[in-house]
Amino acid sequence: MIVVLKQNASHDQLESLVSWLESKKVTVHSSVGQAHTILGLVGDTSKLDIDLIAALDIVEDVKRVQEPYKNANRKFHPEDTVIDLGSSTIGGGSLTIMAGPCSVESEEQVVAIAKSVKASGATVLRGGAFKPRTSPYSFQGLGASGIDLLKVAREETGLPIVSEIMEISQLPLFEDVDIIQVGARNMQNFDLLKVLGHQSKPVMIKRGLSATYEEWLMSAEYVMAGGNENVILCERGIRTFETYTRNTLDLAAIPVLRKLTHLPIIIDPSHATGKSWLVDPLALGAVATGADGLIIEVHNDPARALCDGPQSLKPDDFDVVAKKLFAVHGFLKEINGEAK
Ligand code: PEP
Ligand code: MN
Repeated sequence: MIVVLKQNASHDQLESLVSWLESKKVTVHSSVGQAHTILGLVGDTSKLDIDLIAALDIVEDVKRVQEPYKNANRKFHPEDTVIDLGSSTIGGGSLTIMAGPCSVESEEQVVAIAKSVKASGATVLRGGAFKPRTSPYSFQGLGASGIDLLKVAREETGLPIVSEIMEISQLPLFEDVDIIQVGARNMQNFDLLKVLGHQSKPVMIKRGLSATYEEWLMSAEYVMAGGNENVILCERGIRTFETYTRNTLDLAAIPVLRKLTHLPIIIDPSHATGKSWLVDPLALGAVATGADGLIIEVHNDPARALCDGPQSLKPDDFDVVAKKLFAVHGFLKEINGEAK
């Protein structure tokens, strides 16, 4: 249920309404916007008298929210969520480019790639330390030492780092990782999501290979229900009948999610296509469609990459793509005004 307050509601009136609602055993999330303050009520709202609440002096409107996701719902939080990384932000109109190797392979590799992607305008360094590989015989990642090497690259460049967690027991290793990634294969690992909801690092949830928007948003809801509102959604292609590309990039996810949720939306054209030459056109399409950012795999020697070489851009090619992405983003801002 959401309660929209009148513009002239005082702080004291707001506080007493919130404590009254809490006494009815619902959790209240307030979202203070420029025009209105909105109270989002989560829990068993079936016993609340909607007419009684609507009749209160400071209440403008009361609506039941049908969707099963509440915290992630834009109705609860009309303004975009903006995630603060210290050196940059994600969401709310900026364009974030996360880039780096699929897997961390060595200090020289990750530091060199970090320096080059930073020079091209990336604001987050990606790198897998724990890799969910389809084959048990493929490179499984450097594990804990991969995280240490990402930290070295952060030290050298100042770029915050994003890396994938595969299971709960790895959490202590991620204490100093700036964004924790939940991979497509773990999107519905509900125990992992719950644990990530009880810590405060931003969590980027990649869409499961066959997940609907609602299932994906429910995964975000798991994290948010635990108290962590710093959630980012990442579309990375879904499984369809097409085999030419590794997956099928669902660009419609961008405007649809923009409508359904306030969470930032990042697009991964690398895993979506599996081919480096398709990264440029699809990344441009994603920005034109209104994405908050991209996550792109970059490798200094794709032919010898231990993972996902065929979809990785060389640093020089990434530089060309990044320039185009910023140009399209700037142009869109111009033609749309500041609004997306
Ligand atoms: C990755 O980003 O390295 C990765 C494994 O992605 P996904 O979970 O989308 O396959
Ligand atoms: Mn990869």
